[in-house]
Formats: sequence, C-alpha cells, structure tokens
Amino acid sequence: MSAYPDTQLFIDGLWRDGSNAHLSIVNPASGEVIGRVSNAGGNDLDEALSAAAAGFEQWRQVSAFDRAKLMRRAAEILRGRTADISRLMTLEQGKPLAESKAETMGAADIIDWFAEEARRAYGRLIPPRATNVRQMVVKEPVGPVAAFSPWNFPLNQAVRKVSAALAAGCSIILKGPEETPASCAELVRAFADAGLPAGVLNLVFGIPADISGHLIPHPVIRKISFTGSTAVGKHLASLAGAHMKRVTMELGGHAPALVFDDADIDLAVRILAAAKFRNAGQICVAPTRFLIQERVFEKFLDGFVKAAEAVTVGDGLSDGITMGPLANPRRVEAMEALTADAVMRGAKIATGGKRIGNLGNFFQPTVLMDVPRDARVLNEEPFGPMAIVSAFSDYGSAVAEANRLPYGLAAYAYTTSAKTSADLARDIESGMLSINHHGLALPELPFGGMKESGYGSEGGSEAMEAYFNTKLVTEAIN
Ligand code: NAD
Repeated sequence: MSAYPDTQLFIDGLWRDGSNAHLSIVNPASGEVIGRVSNAGGNDLDEALSAAAAGFEQWRQVSAFDRAKLMRRAAEILRGRTADISRLMTLEQGKPLAESKAETMGAADIIDWFAEEARRAYGRLIPPRATNVRQMVVKEPVGPVAAFSPWNFPLNQAVRKVSAALAAGCSIILKGPEETPASCAELVRAFADAGLPAGVLNLVFGIPADISGHLIPHPVIRKISFTGSTAVGKHLASLAGAHMKRVTMELGGHAPALVFDDADIDLAVRILAAAKFRNAGQICVAPTRFLIQERVFEKFLDGFVKAAEAVTVGDGLSDGITMGPLANPRRVEAMEALTADAVMRGAKIATGGKRIGNLGNFFQPTVLMDVPRDARVLNEEPFGPMAIVSAFSDYGSAVAEANRLPYGLAAYAYTTSAKTSADLARDIESGMLSINHHGLALPELPFGGMKESGYGSEGGSEAMEAYFNTKLVTEAIN
C-alpha cells in the first residue's frame, strides 16, 4: 500500500487534531482504509471563527500588491509539489494520475490569476451633479468567509474559493472534503509555507451538517460559498438567508450536448466522449443528455459507443488508465439504480451498465438509448460515467429538451452553422455554453449556473465581486 498521511485541521496557523473521533479515508480503487482525517467539534470551530476574525483584521491591511506576491509564491510551491500532491489525490479520489497532475497544475494557475486580479480591483468615480461634490465607489473585502468544497475536485473546487477570498482581502474557513482531505490540505499547506499570516486561512473537516450549522449563522461569518448538490445548496442558502449572509452557490447540472446534422461528427464524438468520462463523469459540467439530430444519430451513437468501449478503466495510479473508480460506493449504487430504473422503463443499454468486479468502486462507461423522458436518469444528475443518447428532429424540439430541466449550468453544441450558434447563444438556459470545443473552467472565465444550478460565479472577475462589499463615499468639498 502506498503511503498516505493522516490529515489534520489547520486553525490559527497550527496543524492539529479535532476534538471528535477521526473519520476513515478509503482508497476507492481498493476499498482499503488508507488513513484518517481529523474531525472538528464545536470548540474547534469556535477557535477557527476567532482566528478568522483576527486574521481578517490583519489581512485586510495588507496591500493588494503584497497579497498578490504571497499568493504567487503559494502557486509556485504547489507547482513544485505536483508529483506528491497528485499521488495523494489519486489515492483518495481515484482519478487517473494524469488528471490529478492537471488539476494540481491548474490550481496553481487559478491562484496566479486571482493574485493578479487582486491588483485590478478598481473602484470608480461617478460624475457628480454639483461641482463641489466627489462620489467614490470603493470595493472592500466582505469579511470572513465560510466555504464548503466537495470531493470530486479536491483541489480545484477549494482553490477557486480560497484564491478569490484571499485576493479580495478576506479571511476564510474552508470545510474541505472529508472523503478526500489530503490533497486539499496540501493546498492550505502551500499558502502557509508561502507565509500567509496565522488565522487568514483555516481548514476544518468533519460532519458537514454540523459544520455548516455552526459556521453559517455565526456573526463572524459574512459570506458563504458552497459547491455540491442542489438539495444541500438549497438548505444552506436558506440558512444563509435567515442570517442575511452573502452566498455563492455552485450546484448540480445535467448538461445537454446538442449535435446538429451539419456538425463535424468525429470532432463531436472525440471531445464529448473525453468530457463525459473524465473524472468518471463526476463533474457538475459533464455532458449528460446527448441530443443528436436524426440524420446523424446512428453515426454519432456508433462512434460514441466505440469511444466509451475504448476507455481503459482501472486504478488511477496504473499506467494507461483513462478512467478510475467512482469516488465512493454511493456513486456505484446510484449508477446501478439509475440503470435499473431506465431499463425497467424500456431503455436499452448500448454499452456498459454494470459495476466492474467487487473490489473498489469501478463502473463501466455506460451509454443508454431509447430512454423515456420520465426515467430518473433524464431528470436527476447521474454524476457518473453515464451518457443518455436521444434523437431530435428540429432546432425547436432540441432547445425545448435542453431547457426542460430545472438545472442550468453547462451546455454544449456542435454545428457548423453560424445562425444555429447565434440562436443557441440566445436560447439556451445555462450559465455556460461551449460550441464546437470544450472551453469551460479557465480561471479567467466566469463559471456558474442559473436556475437550480445556483448563482454567482467561481471564475473570472465576477468571482472576485462576490467577495467585495461595494461602498459609496460621497463628500461635499467646501
Ligand atoms: P451530498 O449532497 O451529501 O454532498 C455533496 C457535498 O456537499 C459534499 O462535499 C458534502 O460534504 C457537502 N455537504 C453535504 N451536506 C452538507 C451540509 N449540510 N452542509 C455543508 N456541506 C454539506 O452528496 P454526495 O453523495 O457527496 O454527492 C452526490 C451529489 O452531490 C452528486 O450527485 C452531485 O449532484 C453533487 N455534487 C456536486 C458537485 C459539484 O461540483 N457541483 C460536487 C460534488 C457533489
């Protein structure tokens, strides 16, 4: 078994255990317990809150120029530790090592981008109605943040929140993913080793509902950021609403991928299959409902099934693996239940549909067809390696299906028609639309949803805005 460290809490600049009993960490490729994570109790959370309050008073005084320098140092540290961190990530989360490396390097790029953005957080001067009046709009950090990040991208989901908060001058308590804690802890270690003052960034793990129930209502916390399921998001948003806290919610999706009969079908198959099976489909923006125009349906299905069957499933640490296990047994159970429900309603399995072996959480890359609209998988986010391929006749019916669900996170389209592209840009109800390529999630691009996929953004300058208060200062100069 490869070495995997126990993970501790990081509170007020110190690594230490929490007062509750540890939680076990399981390697999803083997089912073996590989380590443990500390579990914060109420007293630990109170200490984190005091540290974040004091840390904020200190960090807000640091100039954007110096905040940016420190953040860039953390990014370099992270880059230098990529090999070790990505191994930890694959051990605890399951994704192929190449994906873990890309995530770690990508996290460093996200830090760099927000570091630079910190220096461009301009306010503005508004022309007054009287010559002796000056009107200034000033951006101020909103205050200590409580952030909740999930297990599917242990670094990437956390780094977006941490970087934007720190860049804006906020302190932060991060509840990291309790099932995949070690790589997330390495992110925090990189900032600590870069010289971030104690209390500015605190990391806790534990029982999610206990932690959110303690932190969100607490008066020290001024802003909440959550990535996870829509059901939990709604609960946390109402808790935040009851205490009038600012909120960013990055929730579930059920992304449609529309392929029109004028599209480059080979390109669509290649890019969409890679996007579907990356991270074993456990991605909020993964394409899920594949809507293919009738004339090219057979060609697309044939190519896509071949691409699914070419995916090499196995332990993410082994060479040549292109899809690892699912991150936890809940996802395998969900894949089995969704498949059984669809088949019971008349769906056909074009390929896959079964778990692989009894060791670890492996599931076959799966393509379903003839799935009736009331099947659960066409309504609930599968969050796994499952594609549902359906045919459509015309633009109107494709867009109606794409917009049918309460989700509105990502959408994809393949067409060579400029008119179709322009129409889709207007008609598709989603926070992100990527046409003829897979172009989401760069740090400089807004990343977020509409409808029940949440609100606010985790990328681009919009992500910084979420961590600022806007203050008007108007002054009569006599
Ligand atoms: P879940 O809904 O129990 O948990 C999802 C995430 O929310 C986890 O990180 C968990 O720690 C956190 N969480 C749960 N209850 C919480 C609470 N009361 N307070 C604070 N945080 C809480 O489900 P799960 O089995 O871990 O994941 C399954 C579903 O979650 C997926 O089907 C998917 O829809 C969604 N999910 C979405 C993303 C995303 O990137 N948007 C990431 C992970 C999971």
